[in-house]
Amino acid sequence: MLFKDIIGRQDLKDHLMHTIQKKRISHAQLFLGNEGSGNLPLALAYARYVLCENKSETDSCGSCRNCTRMDKLEHPDVHFSFPVQAKGSEIYLSDHMISQWRAINLENPYFGLNDWYEAGEGSNKQGNIAVKEADSISHKLALKSFEGDYKILIMWLPEMMKAPASNKLLKIIEEPPPKTLFLLVSESADNIISTILSRTQIVKVLPPKESEVSEYLIQKYQLDKTEADNLAHLSERNVAEAIHLMRNLGSSKFNIDNFILWMRLCYKRDVPATIDWVDQITGRGHTREEHKSFLKFCLQMFRNSIVGHYTNGDTVVLTGEQEKFLKKFAPFINHNNIVLLSQSIDEAHYHIERNANPKILFMDLSLKIFLQLKKA
Ligand SMILES: [Zn+2]
Repeated sequence: MLFKDIIGRQDLKDHLMHTIQKKRISHAQLFLGNEGSGNLPLALAYARYVLCENKSETDSCGSCRNCTRMDKLEHPDVHFSFPVQAKGSEIYLSDHMISQWRAINLENPYFGLNDWYEAGEGSNKQGNIAVKEADSISHKLALKSFEGDYKILIMWLPEMMKAPASNKLLKIIEEPPPKTLFLLVSESADNIISTILSRTQIVKVLPPKESEVSEYLIQKYQLDKTEADNLAHLSERNVAEAIHLMRNLGSSKFNIDNFILWMRLCYKRDVPATIDWVDQITGRGHTREEHKSFLKFCLQMFRNSIVGHYTNGDTVVLTGEQEKFLKKFAPFINHNNIVLLSQSIDEAHYHIERNANPKILFMDLSLKIFLQLKKA
């Protein structure tokens, strides 16, 4: 995360960079702002700027060794800690979820807690930052830094620590190993123990302006201006919420359009066009969550083809064109192939959840559907 990639708040960015240039880096800071305000991206940009070997007055260089590592969130001196959900009776630490953490940050740095839970495929249990996690932090920070510069802990949502973990963290903040930087990123100071609060310098992160949120959505997701303005307004400048709304509103249209296109290609056995389609649906900007939702949608459409109606569940509003296609398509799904088709989709869904390569998976699935549609 570079400062320039963060929505709005130029005043705050300038202030933060200025303090680093003047070497006024306070060793414990609390980036406090609501969900979707950009508090986490700011902390990431801050950490990068501290470590950047070639920073200018206006941003990190983006290309030095430390910047390159921060691009992937793989800097050995930057440690992350965040709430994780328990699985069964096991206690999970941030380290167990680090690859999911990197992925969600790189895909959408404005994610909220629910997005995180979804990405982590956790149980429905409330996540937390366990006391064992505080031990692990203490251990990591006690080690010498790899680069001889700062060791940085970025903790997301410290308010999700219970008292024993908070007290352990407090101890480390009170007696930090040399050149250690604590960047706590919080949405609610009320739930952080006062002894930690009193030792941190608070960086207030106000949400970006509505026009800035809209501009971001246009740039990153190629929305048209009216749509982007609406989302920025509806979400009350919470970028996490705006993206969430966008995906829900967009997903129904996305699913139906792609289902129809895919089935046409499979029916025609048009391999080159199928490869193009697979490239497109698995390309930049598309997530595992979208693929899962799409596969579920396909399963539903196959089943609907058997019973002959498509709009049960009221989530799909069909245009005349779409309805015409589905009517013509329905006879190709029948008792000869429905079981195998359903199984193939189920299996694909299972593998997507377990991080299978979506490109290979959708191509493989297309070939299976080629064969099954022929049976009809
Ligand atoms: Zn750099």
